[in-house]
Amino acid sequence: MRYVSTIAAISTAPAVGAVSIIRLSGPEALNIAWRIFTPLDSAKDWLPRQMRFGRINDPEGGQLLDEVLCVWFPAPHSFTGEEVCEIQGHGGLAVTGQVLAAALKAGAEMAQPGEFTRRAFMNGRLDLAQAEAVADLVAARSDAEIRLAARQLAGGLSGKVAEIHKALIAALAELTADIDFGDDLEPLEMKSFRERLEVMALSPLERLLADGRAGRPFREGLRLALVGAPNVGKSSLFNLLVGSDRAMVSSVPGTTRDFITAGAAWSGLVVELCDTAGLSAAPRDELDALGQQRSRAQLTQADLVLWVRDLTRSEQDDETLDPEELPLDRTLVVLNKVDLARPVKRPGQGRPELTVSARTGEGLDQLKAAILKLATGRDDPTPPEVVPNLRHQIALTRTAEILTETIADLKAGQPPDIVSLGLKSALNALEVICGRTAPDDILAEIFSRFCLGK
Ligand code: GDP
Repeated sequence: MRYVSTIAAISTAPAVGAVSIIRLSGPEALNIAWRIFTPLDSAKDWLPRQMRFGRINDPEGGQLLDEVLCVWFPAPHSFTGEEVCEIQGHGGLAVTGQVLAAALKAGAEMAQPGEFTRRAFMNGRLDLAQAEAVADLVAARSDAEIRLAARQLAGGLSGKVAEIHKALIAALAELTADIDFGDDLEPLEMKSFRERLEVMALSPLERLLADGRAGRPFREGLRLALVGAPNVGKSSLFNLLVGSDRAMVSSVPGTTRDFITAGAAWSGLVVELCDTAGLSAAPRDELDALGQQRSRAQLTQADLVLWVRDLTRSEQDDETLDPEELPLDRTLVVLNKVDLARPVKRPGQGRPELTVSARTGEGLDQLKAAILKLATGRDDPTPPEVVPNLRHQIALTRTAEILTETIADLKAGQPPDIVSLGLKSALNALEVICGRTAPDDILAEIFSRFCLGK
């Protein structure tokens, strides 16, 4: 696909900095650069990827705007695969805006958000999963998010998807040969054909899906809510987990009226913690009732819930929260104040229990490890090699479903042309990931996440 327009945008952040970059891409990039740029160096010719020093002048009034460095990346060896020029100017907001305006007056069109990356995708420089990784890398907040995005950009996911794709194409070719030239060839041994499909395509699909589930917290962060009765030590534990005195701690029950959130990072994972108002069977007043209502909403939105209980209180005092309200597979019971009282046997309603002291920090490391384990299903706090995002997971699930049906058809002795249709639709479902068959609205949605100039 060839674009006829040449686009321009400021590719650096919209803030004052030492340097800013104005990027031009499209067939006229170099010509437009020549209309506004006058070299001041001694180079005779403008060589590819060579940095040139010169001035930018307004193409209409001739006014001198900036002294810059300018580089030319000839097509197809550029980020977008098109002719690209990048102008590095002094990083003021106004001057950068004027250099961009000069490029627009000289014939460039203002780029849409993400349009450079979209052109790179359209020109085959990146596949769709890699284009998404560009946006992920820019938005990454933690070591884990950087690592996952960088691997995806380097083709980690695309490579695994390509292997599955290859296996499906090979199976389809075998089957087609059997349909077309069956009389002249050895008959296709259906059992081993089916086993190859299972090993080469279905199992890798399932592994990728499992990695997507385990890796989700590393990709998207983890939202934790602390709930429990008033005065059990939720705010103290919240402060300890966040690493600063963010929430007010007091022996007066009901200090936390609304929920408070704060971010932390453990093992390179972004964690957002939410301290909630103490839940009780009978709210003290209207404000308390409102606070509790908001706490309960947080409880349903959280990935994991820490149910904080006080070891110094008897079961009855503590029983202000209906355990039925807590999601069984997403709750950790945290028995607090172990510095004051040793745990007595109390039913945790089948949920994992840990003892801690929010005062002395005892049990904190074990608690963090238990949180990571429950969130990821892994002891090892490192993300899987590649972690498909939700869009990839939907496509992988669809492909796995179609393939499972196709394998069942094979087992049921369905004719090869029915099986071949199944394989073709599995291929179609898989190709959505790297963008070969992604519909326009999905592309628009993905590229709208990018910032201007990217
Ligand atoms: P919340 O109402 O559940 O948020 O509880 P707070 O964090 O405000 O704590 C209530 C009281 O218990 C405060 O006086 C805290 O200092 C105290 N407290 C909290 N955790 C511990 C703990 O582990 N050990 C001891 N000894 N006191 C604690």
